[in-house]
Amino acid sequence: MSAPIDWHARAASLSLNGQAFIGGRYVPALSGKRLDCVNPATGKVLTQLAACDAEDVDQAVKVARVAFEAGSWSRMAPRERKKRLKAFAALIAGHTEELALLETLDMGKPIRDSLAVDLPLSAQCIDWYAEAIDKVYDEIAPTAPSAVSLIRREPLGVVAAVVPWNFPLLMAAWKLGPILAAGNSVILKPAEQSSLTAIRLGALASEAGIPDGVFNVLPGLGETAGQALGLHMDIDAVAFTGSTEVGKYFLQYSGRSNMKRVGLECGGKSPNIILADAPDLDAAATSAAWGIFYNQGEVCNAGSRLVVEESVKDRVVEKVIEVGGAIKVGDPLDPATEMGAMVDAGQTERVMGYIEKGVAEGAKLRLGGKRIAADGCFIETTLFDDVTSDMTIAREEIFGPVLATLAAKDIDDAIKIGNDTTYGLAAAVWTRDINKAFKVSSALRAGVVWVNCFDHGDISSPFGGFKQSGFGRDKSLHALEKYTELKATWIHLG
Ligand code: NAP
Ligand code: MG
Repeated sequence: MSAPIDWHARAASLSLNGQAFIGGRYVPALSGKRLDCVNPATGKVLTQLAACDAEDVDQAVKVARVAFEAGSWSRMAPRERKKRLKAFAALIAGHTEELALLETLDMGKPIRDSLAVDLPLSAQCIDWYAEAIDKVYDEIAPTAPSAVSLIRREPLGVVAAVVPWNFPLLMAAWKLGPILAAGNSVILKPAEQSSLTAIRLGALASEAGIPDGVFNVLPGLGETAGQALGLHMDIDAVAFTGSTEVGKYFLQYSGRSNMKRVGLECGGKSPNIILADAPDLDAAATSAAWGIFYNQGEVCNAGSRLVVEESVKDRVVEKVIEVGGAIKVGDPLDPATEMGAMVDAGQTERVMGYIEKGVAEGAKLRLGGKRIAADGCFIETTLFDDVTSDMTIAREEIFGPVLATLAAKDIDDAIKIGNDTTYGLAAAVWTRDINKAFKVSSALRAGVVWVNCFDHGDISSPFGGFKQSGFGRDKSLHALEKYTELKATWIHLG
């Protein structure tokens, strides 16, 4: 057996690049401005990032547009794009340990999760779209014989992908796979807290043979770089994942500029409904614990509202407390760690504020609730019982390891509570009755409803929201719809 990896030693010898990647080259921001890139587990500055703004955005859009018009990617045979995208995916997989380490250092998630989840799923996503793109056929309309109408999908042009910090590489991959497969040029803006893996992708894309200017990365702040992308007159679409608040800004940016297409994957407050006839209550409760505590609770579809039928609620809560209380929180570079650091001090404060509010509004704190070490970014796994739908912790997305438990009188009450939210990203129901499973999953207004599991998925199955969780879908062939225009070519036959 090979010796275990000493991640601290690896981290100490890692060379970090914080520059932008434009036109196939690493460059500083034109203004020369830089931002600190901080490791939330230690509070130490890892490196400096190029603080890109409107000028850099302009520059990146110009080169992306030139590349698109030149056709070196956009008009390449799908089979050739496939080859290069598969090479890109293979390079990501081949750099798993390096990229996993960057991800963990940058945003605090456990190294075991970066290695086991973020990296393989990111590489698999790019590979899946590569494999798909030379098998997607266009259409011919059933017109009268006097004409042929060819209905084709064409790439949009220049697409901006603006992504969050909770799964930096994976959320980028969900955008990049279909954007690039469809033949677009792309400008990726990572979150200011988590830019390192995105930046590293630039060199890997070049190495894979993706032409210069087709794939660009701009680190920088949302209010500067992000806004400039949203308002740019020569960007054809924005693919956004992040908060509902910022998603709404992108709709406004579009209306104030060139009516660019906007796809929004936003926040959630997902109900995880456990009915009394669940096939295995302990399994359901264990899954409910991981459904909120995985990735420090910084998951858009986290099962943050546990809705349990009254007769079994106490038993379920006891089990969630047992499982949640045993989760090992600490140093993200320790392979035994199961929950790492919150992404930064600001998010830590925000989550602690919600915990205080939960107590103040009368919910019963049954597990955790405290910071681990007063000045660090670590929070205990936390569970509230006796929560009601009017409480802040049942309504707002906390984006931390805080579970709100609500009791439901019966199945109809569970559905009512489940839908009592402005969000609609995901939901789950646990029952052994197929009729109940279908009734609940049909009634819940959410983009994905899991039955007898939580947070399962596959790249072939679409993901995205109803209501204020956004619109448009990531993953599956449906994602290609966001990054292509339909063109009908009507040929009159003489
Ligand atoms: P966020 O604050 O909305 O930021 C997302 C991205 O938008 C970042 O790159 C951010 O840049 C940028 N941004 C911020 N303010 C902006 C502005 N005024 N104009 C233009 N761009 C701006 O979200 P986050 O805190 O990074 O991530 C957490 C959120 O993402 C949660 O709400 C979560 O539910 C959501 N999320 C959704 C999904 C999904 O698939 N539905 C998946 C993952 C996460 P800076 O960070 O650099 O400022
Ligand atoms: Mg960071």
